[in-house]
Amino acid sequence: MALFGSSGIRGLANKEITPELALSVGLAVGSLHGTAVIARDPRTSGEMTEHALISGLLSAGCSVTRAGMVPTPTLAYAARNFDCGIMITASHNPPEYCGIKLWNRDGMAFDSRQQEEIESIIHNRTWKTAQWQDIGRVYEADVIEDHATMILSKVGRASLKVVIDCGCGAASVITPYVLRRMGCTVITLNSQPDGFFPARNPEPIEKNLELLKKATLSFGADIGIAHDGDADRMMAIDPAGRFIEGDKLLAFFGIRETSYSIVVPVDTSIMVDDVLKNRKIYRTRVGDVYVAEELKKRKAEFGGEPSGSWIFPGISLCPDGILAAAKLVEMVQNEGRLDALVDELPAYPMIRGDVPCSNEKKETAMKKIAISLRKLGEVTDIDGIRLDMENGWILVRPSGTEPKIRITAEARKGVEELFAKVHKLVSGLL
Ligand code: MG
Repeated sequence: MALFGSSGIRGLANKEITPELALSVGLAVGSLHGTAVIARDPRTSGEMTEHALISGLLSAGCSVTRAGMVPTPTLAYAARNFDCGIMITASHNPPEYCGIKLWNRDGMAFDSRQQEEIESIIHNRTWKTAQWQDIGRVYEADVIEDHATMILSKVGRASLKVVIDCGCGAASVITPYVLRRMGCTVITLNSQPDGFFPARNPEPIEKNLELLKKATLSFGADIGIAHDGDADRMMAIDPAGRFIEGDKLLAFFGIRETSYSIVVPVDTSIMVDDVLKNRKIYRTRVGDVYVAEELKKRKAEFGGEPSGSWIFPGISLCPDGILAAAKLVEMVQNEGRLDALVDELPAYPMIRGDVPCSNEKKETAMKKIAISLRKLGEVTDIDGIRLDMENGWILVRPSGTEPKIRITAEARKGVEELFAKVHKLVSGLL
């Protein structure tokens, strides 16, 4: 089994992500890098994994700076002062998971070439072993103030009432602090770090944010903010207590952060195309790592993913949920009520569905589907098959985790017919 997945090394704590594994990752990373900064989210497995990683790093002769329990973007921003950054997190996964993610100085996660290099050292046990006089040392640093100061230098003052739900994750140590420093009145929910994630599932999707919706409405707040476990994601609630769709946040950031280019995943709403008419829109596979890679390649101004990852490449290529929260608060402060801003955006109906398909049959099925869809119009195959038409688009994509082929359709008009037509076509081919 490959060590790295699309989100770094991730698995069940103490079963798949064991101290032995962490030790070998530390040895491999320490063989290639002279200095590293390391941090963790509040998971129960964090300290165990950190100690094993540090032992490996020191043994290979790498100096380690411990940043403690901080968000992923805080660690990734600190990494600019070291040879690399190491974050122990399983992001929005349930509490029994653990993970290790490696960062370059520019906030870009290790790419596939770097991951293969680490895997090869671990597999062949070709790590360095330092002589006694060269064993690494451990230092401590407060990287929160550094990250907060940078964010505060990018936004103005704000006097809003904000409810923030940190989901008992790493954001607890920074987002409420940054928003208060901006001048906001901050009401916190679930902002005590707790590795059991007792308050809610750490993923910031609408069904997990019912309490935040109620609190935003009943406190009469201007905005509600939610993060995932490691705060590289941020989603928001408007003052009417409505969850704001990720495509709408993407449009808000796109309008304000770009004048010529933006990177978005292939399943982004055409509403974003409509409001960013004069920008070049680069599309990538679904996943924030692909958005970051394309941003770097195209030197684009902003990149985002509707699941809540917002990347400001002038600062870091790591999605930054705290900076995004501060920028959104600033927007509301300067431009008026968030519910009115949401309602000003065009909205087109989107239908999502799926057709059952066993994992073994997915590849053959997708080939047949591609041939059929090509007969209907222009298709792109960045991630699944996307068919674009004058008034909308449809994406057919194999699920990465379930025995299903997913179908998403969006259109300015006639979305039901479009969806029904392609659903029938896909079902007929399976
Ligand atoms: Mg995350």
